[in-house]
Amino acid sequence: MKIRKKFIPVAAPWLTRAELNEVWDSMQSGWVTLGPKTHRFEEAIKDYTKAKFAIGTNSCAASLHLAIEALDLAEGDEVIVPAFTFAATLNAVLYSKATPILVDVDEATMNISVEAITKAITRKTKAIMVVHYAGYPADMDEIVALAKKHKIVVIEDAAHALGTKYHGKMVGNIGDITCYSFHPIKNITTGDGGMITTNDEALAEIMTRKRLAGMSKEAWKRATKAGSWYYEITTLGYKYNMNDIQAGIGIVQLKKLEDFIARRETIAQVYNKAFSNVKELVIPVSGDKTMRVARNLYALRVVPEMLHKNRDEIIELMREYNVGSNVYFIPLYHHPYYHKRLGYSPKDFPVCEKLYESVINIPLFPKMSDQDATYVAKTITTIVQSIRKH
Ligand SMILES: *Cc1c(COP(=O)(O)O)cnc(C)c1O
Repeated sequence: MKIRKKFIPVAAPWLTRAELNEVWDSMQSGWVTLGPKTHRFEEAIKDYTKAKFAIGTNSCAASLHLAIEALDLAEGDEVIVPAFTFAATLNAVLYSKATPILVDVDEATMNISVEAITKAITRKTKAIMVVHYAGYPADMDEIVALAKKHKIVVIEDAAHALGTKYHGKMVGNIGDITCYSFHPIKNITTGDGGMITTNDEALAEIMTRKRLAGMSKEAWKRATKAGSWYYEITTLGYKYNMNDIQAGIGIVQLKKLEDFIARRETIAQVYNKAFSNVKELVIPVSGDKTMRVARNLYALRVVPEMLHKNRDEIIELMREYNVGSNVYFIPLYHHPYYHKRLGYSPKDFPVCEKLYESVINIPLFPKMSDQDATYVAKTITTIVQSIRKH
């Protein structure tokens, strides 16, 4: 097949003049830090997720940290974390006094395994971190039931899952605290940015304070004529707030989210159709009627035993065809720092290991054309044909 000239990245944001106009509007208004637009974006996220509270932050990492901080964990407390996730999920726990307990995931969904959670729960367990991998919802009914039974808080890392629905409910309105990312590779972007949603007023209050220095009142509320200069620091806080430049971009992006999700689904269907009859490839799970999977990633899996080349070599071949890819995720215990600090062994996570040697995340972003998607599919099937064993 003919190799195309232009490289297809694995992900890319879709930003236009409309976002720029909102940024320019903030610049002209003179208010570019946390202010009225952040508030408006929070209201829009509340409206979209149907959560009672939304708190704009500068990242999902900061959101996860604030979520853990809100629980005020003590030495000896335990937090269950899936081993198949990005560093930020685990780091949030490591910043606290609590001990993270890494657990394996489910092979089909790549989400935290309910069975593994059940085995890991002890009297010291205070929270469970749930990641909705690639936008596919974790088994929230079972997880929430377990959490209720053991009085455990459920924190959702929904970095991939803005727009995902589960049993008729929007993610963001299911567990106790949900954290989103607006990094450029997520479902919508604000450059960098994040959001927390919760239905718990006390948790919302503490996270709102902690996102900006622990202040009792935010600057934009003090800066009006009616506002007062006086505030108090009532808790240890951080500089984790969203700003109005980010929020302006987010307000415009959120309006496009439903179209983005539909476009991602269309591309995913092109891939599913091309790969479903290739026995050396495993396509990602699709949601049932009770779900809407807001596909953030397309996680294709190869069957290594059936191929003459391994996953890494296949990625290199794809690159020669000008097709980008990535591997989400390198299991946490493979990273030197976590290995040294937590001391887990790959033997403890058979499913993560299997996924890690077989996953290839292939290009999936709304701005891709149909031709791009067909080219990616053709490239992969051509490579597989050339390296299959039988
Ligand atoms: C991207 C990602 C994050 C981090 O998001 P930031 O907004 O960049 O901090 C956290 N968790 C998961 C699962 C992610 O994929």
